[in-house]
Order: sequence, then C-alpha cells, then structure tokens
Amino acid sequence: MKYFTFDELTASHTARRLGIDNTPDETAVNNLYCLVSLVLDPARERFGQPIRVNSGYRCAALNRAVGGVRNSFHLSGRAADITAGSVEQNRRLFDILASLPHCELIWERGGEWIHVAV
Ligand SMILES: [Zn+2]
Repeated sequence: MKYFTFDELTASHTARRLGIDNTPDETAVNNLYCLVSLVLDPARERFGQPIRVNSGYRCAALNRAVGGVRNSFHLSGRAADITAGSVEQNRRLFDILASLPHCELIWERGGEWIHVAV
C-alpha cells in the first residue's frame, strides 16, 4: 500500500458520531489490502493526483447507519467510494478504473463519487 492507509479506508464521520466501532476483522483487512494493491494504488499512480476515500470498509452497524445495501461489498472491505474532487476529474479517474480489475464500477450521483469493488 503506497498511497492509501487503513485509517482512511476505515474512517467514518458517521461511525464517530454514533460511537460505532468500525474496526475491520482480519478478512476485511486482507480484502482492503487487495483493493488497494489491485485497484486504488495503480489508479492513483496513473491518475497522478490525490484521490480521496469517502467510504471504504463498513461494519454492519455502520452500513445500516449510512443506508448501504444489505449485501454491499463495503461490508467485506472490498469496495471504496472515491473522488478526485470534481466531476471532470472523476471522469478521467473512472476511465482509468475501467481498465483495472473490478467487479463493480459505479458512477454515483452524476459523478459526485465513484464506487469501485474487487
Ligand atoms: Zn460504495
């Protein structure tokens, strides 16, 4: 993991506000590691500019609190919602992600952020 930390992949304002412990288990840690190694780090490298993680791992309580779907890949640490800061930048980031391994790649809310999962 070159550009991303476990902290930013597990941090959540909602979890903090509601006192939810969003510490990933060992499986989720391994999945987060794969997500970064296979997708996020290579994307960041090609993109050449910072990418912000809005949401990475979510424990069940946090996923419920943010209204995530029941079988969300966020629950297992296999997904991240990311943004490069603007729709135009996200368009470029999306094209890069499309060429990298993924099982979900979703252009969210008109390009406000991108959901990617492995
Ligand atoms: Zn997502």
